[in-house]
Amino acid sequence: TEGLLQKSEKLALVGQLAAGIAHEIRNPLTSIKGFIQLFKAKYKSDEVHFNLVLAELERINLIVSEFLVLAKPTAVEYKDKEIKILLNDVVTLINTHAIMNNVQIIVEFESEISTIVCEENQLKQVFINILKNSIEAMPNGGIIDIKVKAIEKDTISISFIDQGTGIPEDRIPKLGEPFYTTKEKGTGLGLMTSYKIIENHDGRLKISSKINEGTKVEVILPRVPSELY
Ligand code: ADP
Ligand code: MG
Repeated sequence: TEGLLQKSEKLALVGQLAAGIAHEIRNPLTSIKGFIQLFKAKYKSDEVHFNLVLAELERINLIVSEFLVLAKPTAVEYKDKEIKILLNDVVTLINTHAIMNNVQIIVEFESEISTIVCEENQLKQVFINILKNSIEAMPNGGIIDIKVKAIEKDTISISFIDQGTGIPEDRIPKLGEPFYTTKEKGTGLGLMTSYKIIENHDGRLKISSKINEGTKVEVILPRVPSELY
């Protein structure tokens, strides 16, 4: 019983509204940050407090940034992209962070489909969100396997398999709900934005997990989103 709106409709509304608000928060935030940095340089004895204010501003910035991924600026463009290159770009971006956490990322590409029509930056953001979660789920390091394969004629599956803490079964339905997080410094927005982006691509996101064994996040995408045929 979700009330008058379905879960997906609710997410769509939250996403649109929040993205708009996030956009408007950005500018004043940047100018406040500038002034605080100025004050910090001027009133050196209060440096500790100013640093606290800056850290809190950074937190707001992080939350706002996650919502901004959903915003529809002029730059949203669906184009035919090479999946291998897209994934390599993402791995390159996050690899330093992974290595610092003793995590090794392996890509296995076994797909006859080599390109998909997508919004490149948004899709990259989804993959980064998933990889970040996997790294965060392996505090002692481990391996993340990325498996790419074609399923059916015009559908591709990209699985991210980690060896992390896993997710209790009763928590799986909560994933993707705005602000659902189990982390002290989490936002609970990464998966919500990821679900929304994949949905915009006419795709699906499936999560399965086993406690103390790991988690598999599978992104299933059509080669071409149906409304772009
Ligand atoms: P955040 O990372 O800020 O907490 P997310 O939306 O990215 O927000 O993830 C929501 C929650 O889902 C996380 O707090 C975590 O409990 C769980 N989660 C997501 N991915 C994984 C994973 N690979 N392994 C274990 N737990 C995960
Ligand atoms: Mg996350």
